[in-house]
Amino acid sequence: MKPTLNWQIASVTNIKPETAKVKSFTLTLPEWMRHRAGQHYDIRLTAQDGYQTQRSYSIASEPEREGEIDITVERINDGEVSTYLHDVLVPSDRIEVRGPIGGYFVWEAGLLPDPLLLIAGGSGVVPLMAMIRHRAAEGAQNPTALLYSSRNIEDVIYYNELEKLRAANNGLQIFHTLSRSQPPGWKGYARRIDEEMLREVASPLGEAVQVYICGPTLMVESAANSLVKIGIVSDQIRTERFGPSGG
Ligand SMILES: Cc1cc2nc3c(=O)[nH]c(=O)nc-3n(C[C@H](O)[C@H](O)[C@H](O)COP(=O)(O)OP(=O)(O)OC[C@H]3O[C@@H](n4cnc5c(N)ncnc54)[C@H](O)[C@@H]3O)c2cc1C
Repeated sequence: MKPTLNWQIASVTNIKPETAKVKSFTLTLPEWMRHRAGQHYDIRLTAQDGYQTQRSYSIASEPEREGEIDITVERINDGEVSTYLHDVLVPSDRIEVRGPIGGYFVWEAGLLPDPLLLIAGGSGVVPLMAMIRHRAAEGAQNPTALLYSSRNIEDVIYYNELEKLRAANNGLQIFHTLSRSQPPGWKGYARRIDEEMLREVASPLGEAVQVYICGPTLMVESAANSLVKIGIVSDQIRTERFGPSGG
């Protein structure tokens, strides 16, 4: 299936605050095409003087939802596109998009029944959430662990939905790590993702584990290197880098 690369005009049909800095946008697409979890769309903005700029945003929703997609965007201070999406866009606005794009950082429930290890930093959880939602929609039972690093508890995106999916007891485990501050009584990890943490989370998943890592560039590279050190074959590790910062 080849991704369509035509630009189309999506309608913004819902805007949902997720955290203080993150919002999800539902985009209804006239030329909707089933995506694969992990793919992204490009969004293009055009100013009145003709200046254009575009950015990529992962699809957050599962492919089973027809006719529309969700994207989840973190507001980057001074960012050109994320501030427009957060501060200017309102429901019923129209926006130019193109996708679905990407054939490498994807997971399909039927095709890859192996255990899954999903590793996220900040908004890097977005394409991994599409995989988790897709897994739930397909009723897949493969052992799956999400290791998700956030700065503070208030920054965790999709917290309640992740808890619900975990409680459904279909083989999904969620491990949070809070690198800056932790609420009283916090029982999860309390540091940046490191080799020891990866060993603890990855070992029970066995040697055939398929790994997807997404987040800030430095975090992705450090997690991938640590996984290779603990013996996971690099062919089983797929990475997606969202941006330059260290999270
Ligand atoms: C395949 C792909 C999928 C992506 N999916 C998502 C997604 O689902 N949700 C999402 O929020 N973002 C996602 N991104 C990042 C997104 O494309 C933009 O880079 C981001 O929104 C910043 O764009 P901007 O125009 O607001 O900032 P810019 O004007 O491009 O940059 C402003 C400043 O912020 C810095 N910066 C740029 N990106 C980041 C970042 N991610 N973190 C910290 N600092 C940054 C720049 O170096 C610059 O100094 C994805 C990127 C890729 C490549």
